[in-house]
Amino acid sequence: MQDYSFDDVMKGRGSKDAPLDTLIVGAGMAGLYALYHMRERGLSAVVWEAGDGVGGTWHWNRYPGCRVDIESVEYCYSFSDELQQEWEWTERYAAQPELLRYFNHVADRFDLRPSIALNTRVESAIFDEASGLWKVTSENGDVAFARFCIMATGFLSAPNQPQFKGMEDFEGEQYHTAFWPREGVDFSGKRVAIIGTGSTAVQAIPLLAQQASHLTVFQRTPPFAVPLRNCEMPREYLEKVRAEYPEWRRREREESFGGWVAVNFEYADLVTKSALEVSEEERLALYEDRWKSGGLAMYNIYPDTVADPEANATITSFLQEKIRARVDDPEIAELLTPKGYPALTKRLCCDTNYYETYNRDNVTLVDISQDAIDHISKKGVVVAGKEYEVDAIVFATGFDALSGALLRFDIRGRDGVQLKDHWSDGARTALGLMASGFPNMFLLDGPGSPCPLFQPILLSEDQVRWVGDCISYLDGEGRSTIEPTSGFEDDWLDLCSTALNATLFPQANSWYVGANIEGKGPVGLAYFGGINNYWDHCRTSADNGYAGFTLGTKTASAMAK
Ligand code: NAP
Repeated sequence: MQDYSFDDVMKGRGSKDAPLDTLIVGAGMAGLYALYHMRERGLSAVVWEAGDGVGGTWHWNRYPGCRVDIESVEYCYSFSDELQQEWEWTERYAAQPELLRYFNHVADRFDLRPSIALNTRVESAIFDEASGLWKVTSENGDVAFARFCIMATGFLSAPNQPQFKGMEDFEGEQYHTAFWPREGVDFSGKRVAIIGTGSTAVQAIPLLAQQASHLTVFQRTPPFAVPLRNCEMPREYLEKVRAEYPEWRRREREESFGGWVAVNFEYADLVTKSALEVSEEERLALYEDRWKSGGLAMYNIYPDTVADPEANATITSFLQEKIRARVDDPEIAELLTPKGYPALTKRLCCDTNYYETYNRDNVTLVDISQDAIDHISKKGVVVAGKEYEVDAIVFATGFDALSGALLRFDIRGRDGVQLKDHWSDGARTALGLMASGFPNMFLLDGPGSPCPLFQPILLSEDQVRWVGDCISYLDGEGRSTIEPTSGFEDDWLDLCSTALNATLFPQANSWYVGANIEGKGPVGLAYFGGINNYWDHCRTSADNGYAGFTLGTKTASAMAK
């Protein structure tokens, strides 16, 4: 494996006189495929990547227990059947090192590396009206010009680091799970605090508890967690999926409610009935069956469990009972049992021995739902006047999702308008793919897209193809730019809000709706109207000459054709 520097990659490319066709920001799952696809179309493309390796999420998140909770056979690219056939997944749910190997393999197998500039964090992307080009500058001072800018910056990539008073005074070690040291951390014999109990913490806590002398968990909102039931990849299962991949991918794209839950050791059919239409016995039997099969299968049953409070109450109480049954101490069990928000509306966490970990003598749960963390002292974490002395603090406090990564650098569109100003009342896009006033800038897995409820690799593959088709259309028509009208953007935002408000998702303070970040939500940050409807909208627009978008004036040569 050879890594390429900025100079290697950019040799003579991307000057104002000879701009790139596409500059892609980010070499995670979406950016790698965007690079592959644009090249396949004969477009020049390079990727700028802040990290010193590819893989995005799986490059940065290396905390103990980090693994995907969508089945490995599903959580991978579909664009190359050879790749699907040859990659040997070793576990039902791949762990971070295997996922990182997979994305590195993709970079090598498709010879992507010579077009990826590592250690190249974008500082600004500015649309130059005179030339109609994007001028992209890195923090190292590198500059490139491109006709199209594709933001593959990730939807869970901007870590949320709450600023607690006194953090700088703490004499021990501090870690954020999204910036985990590559060499790992040895907590043997140490007293460790972890703040947060989302998907990340649920994975890390059981392993931290095994290593630390004592683990103190600071919980603001208890999650609903279900057993992941990871195991070695059964050979015959892998072979079966390989043989049936085209059909599986079709169903994943077309039939599943959310996408990520389509595959669960078999294709569990989506039940389209109401949870209230069936007898309690039948309903509980199905819940039990899905619970036993593990992972996110609980989503793929009775669609009204995410829309109707009464239907939801049936699954909420089922999951609450499952939690209580796993914890020995009834008081701790009650603290761990979520109440006050509907199950499924905060993303379901998938666990391996999470609740059993609280049965250990070296684990303390601190409920901070009423009394927030007051400050970090020299020696530990202080809540309601009580100091919890620790040697290390782990922040598992999540991400500024969807829009966060795009607001951490300077993006300016027409008239020098900054994206952060355009989005000052919340992120707004058309189809989750473009923002008005930002011509030729495409977003992958961005705000206004259905990515929180769909398998993000598949979504970005399909979005990349939409973008590729769009560029080909513009080139074919001799048009230099495309951007959504502000009216279309308003309509899309309304559609996102309407779809969101038809669900129970706004009832939980989650990253799905931006409510985990102060001042951000709940908002229609994503499209909750279903993947099929999403693609209907995208296709309808494209099939009608990109209805809802303004295309730049035809060039003289195009007019002459
Ligand atoms: P998260 O679900 O947003 O959880 C963050 C946790 O930190 C929450 O418990 C939150 O409490 C707490 N927190 C945040 N600020 C706090 C503060 N100031 N004081 C106290 N507690 C605070 O983030 P995450 O666990 O990193 O997961 C994010 C998403 O990444 C997941 O939903 C999932 O989509 C993805 N993910 C997937 C996997 C997987 O595939 N296995 C693994 C990890 C992550 P509140 O709930 O009260 O806000």
